[in-house]
Amino acid sequence: MAGNSKSVLLEAEVIIVGSGPGGATVARELARRGKRVLLLERGIDHRPRPYYGTYLGALLYADRMSLLFTVEGLNIIRPIMLGGATSMYCGCAAPPPPWLKDKYGINIEAEVTETMTELDIAPLPAHLRGPASTRIAQAAQGLGYDWQPQLKFMWPGRSRAFDCGAKCMLGCRCGAKWNAAEYVYEAVAAGADLRTSARVDRVLIERGRVTGVSGTLDAGSQTFNAEAETVILAAGGIGTPRILQTSGLRQAGYGMTMDTTAMVYGFVKEQGTGNEPPMTWAWEDPEAGYLLSTLVDPWLNYPIITARKGWRYPLTWPRWNNILGVMIKLKDEISGGVFPNGKISKPLTGADRQRLDQAHQLSKQILVAAGADPASIFMTPLRGTHPSGTVRIGEMLDQDLQTEVSGLYVCDASTFPEALARPTVLTIIGLGKRLAKHLASPVTQVSMGTILP
Ligand SMILES: Cc1cc2nc3c(=O)[nH]c(=O)nc-3n(C[C@H](O)[C@H](O)[C@H](O)COP(=O)(O)OP(=O)(O)OC[C@H]3O[C@@H](n4cnc5c(N)ncnc54)[C@H](O)[C@@H]3O)c2cc1C
Repeated sequence: MAGNSKSVLLEAEVIIVGSGPGGATVARELARRGKRVLLLERGIDHRPRPYYGTYLGALLYADRMSLLFTVEGLNIIRPIMLGGATSMYCGCAAPPPPWLKDKYGINIEAEVTETMTELDIAPLPAHLRGPASTRIAQAAQGLGYDWQPQLKFMWPGRSRAFDCGAKCMLGCRCGAKWNAAEYVYEAVAAGADLRTSARVDRVLIERGRVTGVSGTLDAGSQTFNAEAETVILAAGGIGTPRILQTSGLRQAGYGMTMDTTAMVYGFVKEQGTGNEPPMTWAWEDPEAGYLLSTLVDPWLNYPIITARKGWRYPLTWPRWNNILGVMIKLKDEISGGVFPNGKISKPLTGADRQRLDQAHQLSKQILVAAGADPASIFMTPLRGTHPSGTVRIGEMLDQDLQTEVSGLYVCDASTFPEALARPTVLTIIGLGKRLAKHLASPVTQVSMGTILP
């Protein structure tokens, strides 16, 4: 609870809430265009701490110590720290799906191309893709599926000693992976005011126009009010709808996508994929609505996750080094949501189940072709790593990402009108760059100054 001391007052031209790829990008781009930016982030920067990238660390900075579940039992990993979920991501990059432009009129091609050059996005060189991962990809290719090396936000050359493996998902310790916090510090270098441990609870609205935000600082010990003519919510697919709901935009959070994910594991005698960089190869079937890639859960997560399937599965833990893993990501339909009572629900629809079944059968075939013992193959329980689509373009947001409240924008995974079923970060950066251009354009400046009657 907030203490008795007076509320802190802050002021800026633009307030941005959340420092994941959405918030970090807009903050950097607007600060570089001379805007007075205030960036409010609920977490802190854990990266310099000795525990960053360890199992203990992942408990400390993931929401509910990584034990956040939907009512259906999907485990959601939701990092709360500077850089958002790029602090625990696999460093994969994928261009936005064509339908974003064709169906919804959101063209971010120029912004994505610029980002790919700026961040040197490319697959890892062949010798770093991992022999077991490459064997899976070759087995799939042999069956007629055109698996490709996955684009990466990874620069092996800048790492202290490139040391990627499943443990990358606890946080990158070797320094090879790009993190949105890097954009945050570039925003700060350009003049942005960054406040960490700053949790925004609501947006302040007067006569249909945004006037600022309010919340608490330093683990709730101090309240604050911050004023600005423009507010951009980038608190992620769960955080943003919660703030909107508290602020009276009750439609937010109804319906969501998750790119619902499962792993299919099979055992071999040789080294498996666990100590290789995650997701070095991938293949997507846009018609069927799923993506397959190479991945294994980190060593200590493995028995915990498999125990949820049944007591026999954690017994395979000693053979973690011999697992070949294929990850399934589904293009799940909009369902469930993030509700005002705090609950999150993400039921699979009938079509989702059909997709999952198809992806499961194909993953089994690929693992067998890659040499896995057919009797050893099993699929893990479902989980969610991309909570998104909770404040959708075309429903709650216009094409410029503005809500019904003048001056109030959203720029994060919650804007997706459908499941991407692919890595999200490059699309979110593209949206952030596009929004910054829009907000900095002289036409927008004039209309932002107009107060509704
Ligand atoms: C294990 C894992 C692996 C992944 N791998 C990949 C991958 O390889 N490639 C890829 O593209 N994507 C990947 N993703 C998904 C991707 O990281 C996320 O979809 C993306 O980071 C979402 O960006 P965002 O800006 O919407 O929100 P987030 O990254 O979630 O950032 C939101 C920020 O807002 C802050 N916040 C929340 N509430 C508040 C509040 N009330 N006040 C102030 N601040 C608040 C949070 O602390 C957080 O920093 C992965 C995700 C996970 C969990």
